[in-house]
Amino acid sequence: MSNLDAGVQVRNPRTGLNDRPLEAPSHEELVALTSRLRANQKRWQDAGPTHRAEVLLRWRDALIAHKDELAQALTEDTGRRTESSIEVQVSVDGLKRWAGQVVELLDEETIQQTTMPGVSVAPSIRPYPLVGIISPWNFPLLLALIDAIPALAAGCAVIIKPSEITPRFLAPLEKTLIDVPEIGEVVGLIEGAGETGAALIPLVDLVCFTGSVETGRIVAENAARNFIPASLELGGKDPAIVLPGANLDRAVPGILWGATANSGQSCLSIERVYIHESLHDEFVSRISPMASALGVNYPDLEGRGIGPMIAEDQIATIQSHLEDAYAKGAVATAGGELKILGGGAYLEPTILTNVNHSMKVMTEETFGPIIPVMKFTSDEEVLSLANDTIYGLSAAIFGDEERAKKLGRQIDAGAVSINDAALTGVMHEGEKQAFKLSGIGGSRMGKISIRRFYRRQSLLINSSTGRDPWWWPEG
Ligand code: ADP
Repeated sequence: MSNLDAGVQVRNPRTGLNDRPLEAPSHEELVALTSRLRANQKRWQDAGPTHRAEVLLRWRDALIAHKDELAQALTEDTGRRTESSIEVQVSVDGLKRWAGQVVELLDEETIQQTTMPGVSVAPSIRPYPLVGIISPWNFPLLLALIDAIPALAAGCAVIIKPSEITPRFLAPLEKTLIDVPEIGEVVGLIEGAGETGAALIPLVDLVCFTGSVETGRIVAENAARNFIPASLELGGKDPAIVLPGANLDRAVPGILWGATANSGQSCLSIERVYIHESLHDEFVSRISPMASALGVNYPDLEGRGIGPMIAEDQIATIQSHLEDAYAKGAVATAGGELKILGGGAYLEPTILTNVNHSMKVMTEETFGPIIPVMKFTSDEEVLSLANDTIYGLSAAIFGDEERAKKLGRQIDAGAVSINDAALTGVMHEGEKQAFKLSGIGGSRMGKISIRRFYRRQSLLINSSTGRDPWWWPEG
């Protein structure tokens, strides 16, 4: 039995060293695990939402008990500390939220009478038995559990395959499954890269994928071949628009945060800024020193500043976006140069001016802490620039609320933050779907996101005592 993805090594983003082999299952082990999860799922489903809510709360306690180990492993995976603790906290909060609302959400509707005399409908919810979760490296725990928790609440079993770049957090997460055996029976955790991910899809009933457009397309094709639904959350090139008269006291720190949190390695990062010409110079002169002061989180992991590039491939992408921008006339007013420090790759928060849409940094996903700033003169112009993208994940607008709302309704993206940036990263209420190549499937936010994990079934019951079949002519 040979393991899938044999020979893949895991790199440490702070040292640049490959210091751990990936440990993916063999195909036979994967089949055995998915069969076991499927067998256990039936009991989980039948136990009902009240029981599941109670177990989810116990899983939450287990996550809290192991929170330091989880945050430590996530820090080794990603090279940054603050976001690691936030990931654990968001997951802990997610468990509480879903436990608190699942009973009401899955409350089976009562029998409905129909327009046909004597015929009633008894609806029910049938969870997909086994959900496969293929997750990325930028928020390894958060982006695995954001789908796993509502899937479990709905009554599904789940199998999670995180990115091969960040598998270390699985060990402490496994301990939480041992603490709560009911969860351990319906959650499978596996390491693996592309080969394992591809092998998993034919073995599940629904796949939730978060990652690149390129791999998302392969996953969607594989899912389609197997006739299973795919919920895809892919890349973004989120614009921030600063309208004339906008309050720069809010826009400057909001955009800096929205573009550099997690070193810009979030699908919902602000990746380009359009600023009204009347505010351009003031905006640049205020954001540049603030970006420089933020700096990078090296050598002291506990200190301030943004962390290293997590994935090795990103180093070349960021370098090529910077070189392309400089060759076409862009000017850095803060940061601007990738540095290798102690083996890790860091980019100080970078502000670029003199940019335009001939540059990769304005049109391709960078996934780094770069803020290119471009002037505009009219609302029509900025709308066409904002929509000039293959992506449609989210956007931000700063300025007069009415004008911002009017523009926001014309932006082709699922969520538009107004007078703030990247709000979908810190809240979960607003229902939204991805536009264009940013994804496909139901909303991942809001209570309705649980609907992705079940099918509706109706029993159509004829209780009449009249003639049957009543629709046939008499005689
Ligand atoms: P990135 O997040 O670096 O852009 P990907 O989109 O390729 O990378 O990876 C996201 C997730 O998809 C990871 O868990 C990765 O292992 C997985 N993956 C990569 N290739 C495939 C594939 N062919 N089928 C299924 N999953 C894959």
